[in-house]
Amino acid sequence: MSRKSDPSDRGISRRGFLQTGAAIAAWETVRPVPEPQLSPPSASASPFAPGGAPTRLSEHLWVYGDTCNVYAVTDGNKALLIDFGSGRMLEMTREMGLAGIDWILHTHHHRDQAQGDQKAVKARVPIAVPAHERHLFEDAENFWRNRRINHLYNVRNDFFTLTRNVPVASSLADYETFRWGPYEFFVLPTPGHTIGSITLIARIDGKTTAFSGDLIYGPGKVQTLHDLQYTYAGMEGVDFSVYSLTRLLEREPELLCPSHGAPLLDPASGIEELIRKLSDWYDYWRGPTMITRNQPITVSPHLVAHHLPTASFYAVISESGKALLLDYGSASNTSFLIFKDWPDIHGRMRFLEHSIDTLRSSYGVKSIDVVMPSHVHDDHINGFPHLVKHYGAKVWCFENMRDILEKPNGRNIGCLLPEPIRVDRTFRHRESFKWEEFDFNVVHSPGHTEFQMAMFATIDGARVAFTGDAFFNTPARPDDGLRHNLIYRNDVYSDSHMQSLRNILEFQPNIVAPGHGTPFLLNRTDVARFEKRLEQQKAHFERLLADPDVDFGLDPSWVHIYPYQMLLRPGQSGAAEVRIRNHRRKPMQLEISLVLPEGWRSEPQIRRISVDSKSLGTAPFLLTIPGDWPVKLKRVALAADVVADGKYLGQIAEAVVDLGSAGV
Ligand SMILES: [Zn+2]
Ligand SMILES: [Zn+2]
Ligand SMILES: [Zn+2]
Repeated sequence: MSRKSDPSDRGISRRGFLQTGAAIAAWETVRPVPEPQLSPPSASASPFAPGGAPTRLSEHLWVYGDTCNVYAVTDGNKALLIDFGSGRMLEMTREMGLAGIDWILHTHHHRDQAQGDQKAVKARVPIAVPAHERHLFEDAENFWRNRRINHLYNVRNDFFTLTRNVPVASSLADYETFRWGPYEFFVLPTPGHTIGSITLIARIDGKTTAFSGDLIYGPGKVQTLHDLQYTYAGMEGVDFSVYSLTRLLEREPELLCPSHGAPLLDPASGIEELIRKLSDWYDYWRGPTMITRNQPITVSPHLVAHHLPTASFYAVISESGKALLLDYGSASNTSFLIFKDWPDIHGRMRFLEHSIDTLRSSYGVKSIDVVMPSHVHDDHINGFPHLVKHYGAKVWCFENMRDILEKPNGRNIGCLLPEPIRVDRTFRHRESFKWEEFDFNVVHSPGHTEFQMAMFATIDGARVAFTGDAFFNTPARPDDGLRHNLIYRNDVYSDSHMQSLRNILEFQPNIVAPGHGTPFLLNRTDVARFEKRLEQQKAHFERLLADPDVDFGLDPSWVHIYPYQMLLRPGQSGAAEVRIRNHRRKPMQLEISLVLPEGWRSEPQIRRISVDSKSLGTAPFLLTIPGDWPVKLKRVALAADVVADGKYLGQIAEAVVDLGSAGV
């Protein structure tokens, strides 16, 4: 959906327009040359400083050519700065007759934007940064401790990160608005130059003004291409830049303020020119489909398949124009792959809105009523918080997913989205329900993960099965029939896949709508071949695993601590339980003790429990951190020491405690 500027906004004042145009021309000709000037050195300050002086673009907008362009928006005698460069503006604002700087907002984390931030911290000016790059400001030193340099394949230019931590006062979250005085800065996610880059869009002196960081340098130009490469020989940033420029264009900016290069009046043609040139460059490298070219497939009048985002998602559309979405994740495979293998512990998969505009314009969708996950994996649900927050969608799911979605810190299993998602309704195994004119059935579908369902509906006369990642129509060899996968960390047991297949076949679907790829017709030959393959899988388990109760060798979490990630401070207590899945064909007796950091207390010290065959047992504990416990590291690990049926197994389960803020 494109959000046009609010028609109730003030019109462009002619005076403001002329002033801006003339100022830009003047600024270009007498562009401050940042000749190094020597200023008194101090321990942390640079001996260099840029020359020149700020130029007034319009009544409330100034620009200063520092190591990047620093923009000042004013309200009375106060200013808000967009990016900060070397920090020279601290002195300049005094010369501009301003009483002080209220905020610094950053478009991205590069040093040329933010190298003077320590001066702002000293002057007590609060700093707000893109949410997806917050850790590259406040935890920059940790980034440097952990960034791999040898065997360099992650070639992304996060090497342009600050050298010291900068305290951050606020995050600029995607699609949210930062309000200051009479101004509202809309945070448009514009990845490209960096993955977490944002463009801030506000009405200033009657004009829709976009502060776009290094997304665009000037008409049809970028300052660097190297920043647009994240993975080895990748072109991800080019794809993202085209997406970001397209979204920016829809907002109809009247003045574009880049971090390098001159401000652009009437920037549409310059943005279009860059979209064309970057698309040509992307096509030259013959990459996968660009995000902006993703087009859905009409399966039947009331069912639309989007197969090009990371995970396929489906829209069931009612006569009334309501949509029920089955999954809704990242915009493209590229959006996913750049995070999948990234070593950075704080990085969060970034969601970019996609496909909703097509559902509205081409399929008559008026509202996103309900969204349901096929399973709990991040690539399938990354867009749920956005649909809830900005479209009022309700979240419905299979019953065992609720805890994972609402408390993602609880478990350490594959592919969880850290953002909690509130669930409005759950369904039991074999439950049926009606939504608009359609009838649905839900069944448990374990295997790929324990937290997966299959859902069935008759849509436009076809019996459709939404099967998530249970299996795919891309067998490695034709006689495999279908393809499945096995991820031990996802709570999978020896007969999970077969159980899932049987649950699906019971409903005799003719069209399968998988979690990746396009819908396909299910035929008996393929099913028979696939069944045989699943039987072979079970035989391998039995041949390979020492314990005749093979699930002990498949399940890394048969003993686990819940929650896996706790957030506690010194002086606080927290409840944790050790959970035991007894895969044995007889009851188990366990003795459990927690191994904690020096000085922490556990109540009780030892717990003894009996767990029935094929069931789950829980051993609750209360942890206490003494109030005077010195925090040296922001995250510590603890373990559970276990004796099972008289055999000492040792510290076979663990959990982490974040002290202070989660993750950072
Ligand atoms: Zn930059
Ligand atoms: Zn998937
Ligand atoms: Zn999955």
